[in-house]
Amino acid sequence: MSQDVLRQILIKADSQVEPIFTWDEVKAWPEGELDTFLKLGLLQEISPAKSVICDGCGDGCLEPVEYLDGPHVGQVRAYVVCRSREDIGRIEVIPERVKRWKVCLSELAQKISDALGENLGVQIIATDRIWWVGSLQHGKHHVDVFLMLGAAWNDCESVVLNSGQLRGASKPLLLVPHTEPTRFPITIIKRIIRLTQQLNLNKGAIVLDRRILHAAIGEAYGGRTRRVQPVVPIHTQSGITWRDILIYFVNEETVRIEVGDKIVEHRDFIEMGFRDNRKSIETPDQLWEHLIALAKLSGSKEYRGISYHRDKKTIKNMNEEMGRQAYNSALRDAAMWKDRVGNLRTRLRALFPDIKGNPITYCGWEHLYQTAFHLECDPGMN
Ligand SMILES: [Zn+2]
Repeated sequence: MSQDVLRQILIKADSQVEPIFTWDEVKAWPEGELDTFLKLGLLQEISPAKSVICDGCGDGCLEPVEYLDGPHVGQVRAYVVCRSREDIGRIEVIPERVKRWKVCLSELAQKISDALGENLGVQIIATDRIWWVGSLQHGKHHVDVFLMLGAAWNDCESVVLNSGQLRGASKPLLLVPHTEPTRFPITIIKRIIRLTQQLNLNKGAIVLDRRILHAAIGEAYGGRTRRVQPVVPIHTQSGITWRDILIYFVNEETVRIEVGDKIVEHRDFIEMGFRDNRKSIETPDQLWEHLIALAKLSGSKEYRGISYHRDKKTIKNMNEEMGRQAYNSALRDAAMWKDRVGNLRTRLRALFPDIKGNPITYCGWEHLYQTAFHLECDPGMN
């Protein structure tokens, strides 16, 4: 039966009202359940209710509690006065009915972290909304596990976008108490697990079947299953040019895309169309590495684009300076870059089909390629 109470607690934690249980709700619980959850620390008794549902009229009217001295010295009795029906008047309220218990959200996060069994502790990412509850190693995947309350609430987007650690995680797994959002603001979240289906109470402790998590991680981040998906284009309003676009590498696998200072979404290399399809494991291809290299260059003041490219005239001079071998190697280098930039252009155009013009331009007199959009990377990647 504890399972049912645990479920009620999770649903309450995920509801948009204050997560409080009244006596009227708790009295239906099996004997000893309240104590079990108080001992676990998931519930905490708080100040008594100032009003309770009047049980005189049957209309369920909420009435303020009044206190009067009882017949004996020091005795206090609680009453409500029904305002729904005049013939009822004052009704006595048993003392337990004003008791209330609040779901202790930080303790819920702690218990989930304990259930992961890694003893890594809990980090608050957004107060009372998002916690990092630990990490799991699944094959070669290092996955960060987060708990989020109110993932289906209206403010979810702003809460998530202000949570850098969640946004920056390369492989996040998100746990929600009960309600799965229909649309999640960041697309790097591949799997969302509902705890009402997975969390159990066993011998007075909260347990989470780690096999479920591993299965979810396997499904989300691959291993045997290949994730082959077409690239979903990002549509932009008319008037938006390449200059309005920022592609920002938050880490080696994920970029944040902004259009005109507004964060549009996060994508990993697969969603960007840079998966190396020749390999069974999910790794980015060479072009992705080049895009990262480019991002690192544009971040520095000395380079305002790619300076690898050499035109034939420069190469001819190089030939005279360096000899035949260097000349040939430089030619190959130039051809390789021409090729790669061509492929990068094709992919970027497919990603932003509404934007006209060239995403990467060649600056003849400086002998360098330059991106027409902003391309940056997290300072930690350098
Ligand atoms: Zn009433």
